[in-house]
Amino acid sequence: MSDTGGVLRGAEKPRTHALHLGWATWFTAELILATAGLVVEWLAFQRAIEMILLSTPGGWGSFFSALGTLVFMLCYARVQLYSITLVHRYFTHRSFETYWWVRAIIIALFHSTLEGLVILWRGWHLQHHAVPDTALDIHSPVLYGWWHAQIFWMWKKDFIQPPGYKYMGGSHRPWYNPLKVMEKYYWWIVAFMGFAFPTVICSLWGEWEAGLLFASFTRAVMVRNLTGLINSSAHMWGETVEGGGSARNTAWKFFIWLVVGEPNHATHHKHPNYYRFGEYDPAADLIENMAKLGIAYDLKGPSGLTYARTPV
Ligand SMILES: [Zn+2]
Ligand SMILES: [Zn+2]
Repeated sequence: MSDTGGVLRGAEKPRTHALHLGWATWFTAELILATAGLVVEWLAFQRAIEMILLSTPGGWGSFFSALGTLVFMLCYARVQLYSITLVHRYFTHRSFETYWWVRAIIIALFHSTLEGLVILWRGWHLQHHAVPDTALDIHSPVLYGWWHAQIFWMWKKDFIQPPGYKYMGGSHRPWYNPLKVMEKYYWWIVAFMGFAFPTVICSLWGEWEAGLLFASFTRAVMVRNLTGLINSSAHMWGETVEGGGSARNTAWKFFIWLVVGEPNHATHHKHPNYYRFGEYDPAADLIENMAKLGIAYDLKGPSGLTYARTPV
C-alpha cells in the first residue's frame, strides 16, 4: 500500500494515451467478433450433431473437433485468469518475488487478455486501494453502479488520463525488467498470444475459424467480464470485513474458484500485500507451489511479514 511508485517519464505519456483510445475501440470490436465466434461454434456443434444423428461419416470427427476448441478455450481462459491475478499480486502488490523469466511469462499471458498495459493496470488498481469509492476510484460501483464498474468505466473520459498518475511509475524498480521492453511490443504480443496462438492450436484439429473467433474473441470477452466482476460484484455483494471498506468476501465457493481466489476481495483490501486472499484461494495455492518449485520466494504475510519460503 505504501508502494505508490514514481511518476511516468514524459516520453511514455503519448503511448499510454493512444492505448486508452485503442482499448475501448478494441473492446467494441471484440464484442462483435465474440458474437460471431459464438455463432460459428454453435453452427459447428449443430452440424456435428446432425451428422451424428444421420450417421454421416465424419460426424463424430466434427463433434470432437468442436469439443476440442471448447476445451482449449476454457483451459486457455483459465490460464489467462491466473496471469491476471499474478499481475495483481506480483506487479501491483509485490506479495511475492520471482525471477525475470517467470515475470516475462506472466506478462505475455496477461497481454493476451487485452487488459491493457501492466503499468496502467497497476496505476488504476493502486489508486482504487488508496482512495476507494472516491472520484479518483474510476471503477467504483458504490458511486457509479454495477455496470459502470463491470465494463463501462473503460469509456469514461478520465480513463484517458487518470488523475492518480503518480501511482503509475516505478521504472527504477527491479521488476521493471522485462516489463518495459515487453510493453513496447504490446500489440505484437497481443496479436501473437491472444489471436495467432489460439488460431494455430485449433487449426491442429481443423477449426482455425472457430479458433480465431471463439477461442480468441469470445474468450477475451469472457475473461474480461470475469475480471470485471471483481470491480463490480465484489464491491456490492457478500460480507464486508473491518478494514476492507466496501469490498466484499463471497460465500459462494464456485465464484472464488471461477475467478481464481480474487472474490475474497474484502480480505484482500484489508491486507493488500498478503499473497493469500482467503482460506480457499486457487491462485495462492499456485504461488505456494511455485515457491515449492523454487520459482517464487519471499511470500508476504498479512502484516507485511515476509516468508523466506512457502509458509506451509
Ligand atoms: Zn477492490
Ligand atoms: Zn489489489
